[in-house]
Amino acid sequence: MNLPPSAIITGITGQDGSYLCELLLDKGYIVHGIVRRSSSLDRPRLLSHYNDPDIYGKRLFLHYADLTDPTSIRRIIAQTAPIEFYHLAGQSHVGLSFEIPESTCDLTAMGTLRIMEILRDQPNNPRFLHASSREIFGTPTVSPQDETTPQNPNSPYGCAKSFATQMVRVYRDSHGLFFCNAICYNHESPRRAENFVTRKITLAAARIKLGLQSKLMLGSIDSARDWGYAKEYAEAMWRMLQHDQPDDYVLATGTSYTVREFAEAAFSHVGLDWKEYIELDQRFIRPADAESLLGDASKAQRVLGWTARTKMHELVRIMVDYDMDRLRQSKERT
Ligand code: NAP
Repeated sequence: MNLPPSAIITGITGQDGSYLCELLLDKGYIVHGIVRRSSSLDRPRLLSHYNDPDIYGKRLFLHYADLTDPTSIRRIIAQTAPIEFYHLAGQSHVGLSFEIPESTCDLTAMGTLRIMEILRDQPNNPRFLHASSREIFGTPTVSPQDETTPQNPNSPYGCAKSFATQMVRVYRDSHGLFFCNAICYNHESPRRAENFVTRKITLAAARIKLGLQSKLMLGSIDSARDWGYAKEYAEAMWRMLQHDQPDDYVLATGTSYTVREFAEAAFSHVGLDWKEYIELDQRFIRPADAESLLGDASKAQRVLGWTARTKMHELVRIMVDYDMDRLRQSKERT
């Protein structure tokens, strides 16, 4: 009898990790998620599976470990012998990385290297996916950017991702390991943390519509981003590890919109004019920020058959509708 495939996900409680967990469970995997200790046991993005007795403890297992504690990760890998390892954990906020550069680099750069060192020792050669970022390009001089675009990061987060991305390539080329980089452009969803600009906007549009908030303060609204839907990016990550050759892939929609356009779409979806509610606040402007970012994911399309189907306006609708529903439900409960 064939055993089901098993995978480890770091960052399983995050936006991408929770979508990837669902995808792998749907495909019949045994999923081992690494979670760190926190003062709250709330794991809202995993709640439905965590509370399902047919899944939790049978096909989904959570293990305590931390990116700063490689012994704990080594033990889990030895106990579970995964065939695939999806490394999504890290300090994922670019702006915050200017406030906490040391821990960002320790988790994102060294944390990735520590895992790769452990995987190098495994007899079954697990396949490894690293969630890299378009931030490795900093302010690019070419547009759109692809896998060959020179790295030139301009934030602590980007520097840490750049180090980890290069090390993945070194381990693949020097040790012959099946290690891949998913070079992700922004991807959002209703599960995006509330301190990211897209979620701030969709939540504010819903709250203002329901009379729960009056204004939204934003930094630069002229920066343009290539925004996709996180659920689709999780699928691309899985496809990368199913291919017969390890490689790096840019994951992007190939379309770019400004923060202003995103806000306009979100507020107009609930029948409001964004100009009446959004105010600019210098405090939210980053020390260094790329004006415009656009990814070329044609390699992922050609080799993996993957495309980002959900573009900005549809993504906005998904996020605003979710926030409206959730707020209405909590209003009804009170
Ligand atoms: P996210 O929602 O912020 O999730 C980050 C995850 O990392 C959470 O599960 C978090 O656990 C975990 N984590 C943080 N520090 C940890 C530590 N010391 N030990 C163990 N786990 C730790 O991020 P995301 O949006 O899902 O992104 C996933 C990955 O893709 C990240 O590496 C991010 O940098 C990268 N990426 C994302 C985007 C994007 O647009 N979303 C774009 C490019 C690259 P807690 O739940 O306990 O906080």
